[in-house]
Amino acid sequence: MPDHITHDILAEIVEVAADAVICIDATQRITFFNAGAQAIFGYTRNEIIGQRIETLIPQRFRANHARQVEEFGRSGVKSRRMGERKEIAALRKGGQEFAAEAAISQVHHDDGSTIYAVVLRDISARKRFEQRESFLAEAGEKLAAAFGSTETLTQVARLAVPTIADGCILENRTGNGFHVGATAHVNAVVEALLDELSDAGLRSPPQGHPLIEILERRAAVLIQPNAAATLVEKSRVPSYRAAVRAMNPRAALFLPLVAREQLIGALCLFRANGTFDSEDLTFAEDLARLTALALDNARLHDTVRASLRARDEMVGVVSHDLRNPVAAVKMLSMSLLKEPAAQDPDAREKIDLVCQAADQMDALIRDLLDVNRLDAGRLAIAAHPVDPATLLLESLQTLRPLVEARGIDLDLQIETDLPKVMADPERIQQTLSNLVGNAIKFSPNGSKIAVVIRRDAEGVVISVVDNGKGIAPDQLPRVFDRYWQSSRTDRQGAGLGLAIAKGIVETHGGRIWIESKPGEGTTASFTLREADDQQSD
Ligand code: ADP
Repeated sequence: MPDHITHDILAEIVEVAADAVICIDATQRITFFNAGAQAIFGYTRNEIIGQRIETLIPQRFRANHARQVEEFGRSGVKSRRMGERKEIAALRKGGQEFAAEAAISQVHHDDGSTIYAVVLRDISARKRFEQRESFLAEAGEKLAAAFGSTETLTQVARLAVPTIADGCILENRTGNGFHVGATAHVNAVVEALLDELSDAGLRSPPQGHPLIEILERRAAVLIQPNAAATLVEKSRVPSYRAAVRAMNPRAALFLPLVAREQLIGALCLFRANGTFDSEDLTFAEDLARLTALALDNARLHDTVRASLRARDEMVGVVSHDLRNPVAAVKMLSMSLLKEPAAQDPDAREKIDLVCQAADQMDALIRDLLDVNRLDAGRLAIAAHPVDPATLLLESLQTLRPLVEARGIDLDLQIETDLPKVMADPERIQQTLSNLVGNAIKFSPNGSKIAVVIRRDAEGVVISVVDNGKGIAPDQLPRVFDRYWQSSRTDRQGAGLGLAIAKGIVETHGGRIWIESKPGEGTTASFTLREADDQQSD
């Protein structure tokens, strides 16, 4: 030991160390207990000196501990960390267990006696912090996966109880009032009572109620230790008073839920026994922040979903109602063609244009109605065994004029001995027309398009290969989204063709996918299940 550090200085350092330093003799009785040990364990030196070390160890570990100290004594090893394989726990004066880290050393005196010295650190705060951090991380994941605002609130209530409170009420803010969005309690009977709170509807809390303070100051409100009495006194709604009486909280913590600078609700936590300390407050505030963010996201999702539903309903109604007038335009212009006045070439051309426009409108209305049917699961498929080559040839009939007008070389590569597939011919022809139609639309004049039909493990695969402009990799995942088009300048469609093709193929039990390289071309493929041998057409 360097000369300038005397035994007295060392003794003083040990005495003032924040860790507990405890010495025991060979019979495992306590002979030394520093100030750190007194602060951690809650015993005074006078109370504990002469007691067995077991006093500081939870009952279930005592026998094992005594044996381990003896073994350590015999081992001749100078010092060893305790609890290397699993965490150790120690016992405070009041009987409260806490997580600890410790090391033990042994010193042999010349007179043959042995002293064991234990240095122990209280790691309960660190453990609590770690547990809370991992709880918040897990909560974040669960909330991100929650669907809609009601489910989000239910998840939060379930997460809060019992981790941070015995009871939890989540309030949604509406104007100057609140209504209960979700509740949870450790006791099932009380939980059933809390369930009824959601029926209370919108409440405007009376002056002095913590929720009013939340509205006005947007800061946490803590009521303890007489939370039950205070809350009953400040509430007017009978079901709320009954719920508070049933929970009988000693402590209540109200936290504002703030998202994008708006107060959107309140997280209310209740503890029947015990109080909330500053650490609990920080934890609860973190949970409130997470909740506000998740709730805000969920509400935005709800709004988007509701608008999409409204759009689809509107599209369904309008397209249905447009069908008859468009059919009338088509029919009347066809009959106009037979009129003597239509023999004039100029008039004839104009009537032809009206007919074409009516055809385009009719196709668009059909697509819109199909998309709506897909949504409602009402796209009827009547599949039976059919020859895939015949299907292809029939669907190409209508596209031939377009192919020729664009000088496109259409190459059909049909494997021989193909099995029959299960298909609704009209729907699969519609799919093929969509895919070949896209290939034509996005290919330059005079280029080549191949349609390949082959058999593989999944069934029969039909691919439409073009050498057109291709699709950028970041846009590829969106091509099957409805109303999606890579560029809005091209109005030869409504971005529904691939969404409908996907719906049709998947309703057939098949798979559809697109591979593409910008500048090189696109391959759209889908599978169809083979028909069983027994099935006949
Ligand atoms: P639309 O009827 O408007 O063509 P689709 O759903 O059939 O709608 O296609 C959606 C979008 O996907 C198209 O607008 C286009 O941007 C892209 N796309 C589809 N097929 C091809 C292809 N063969 N080559 C390049 N882009 C394509």
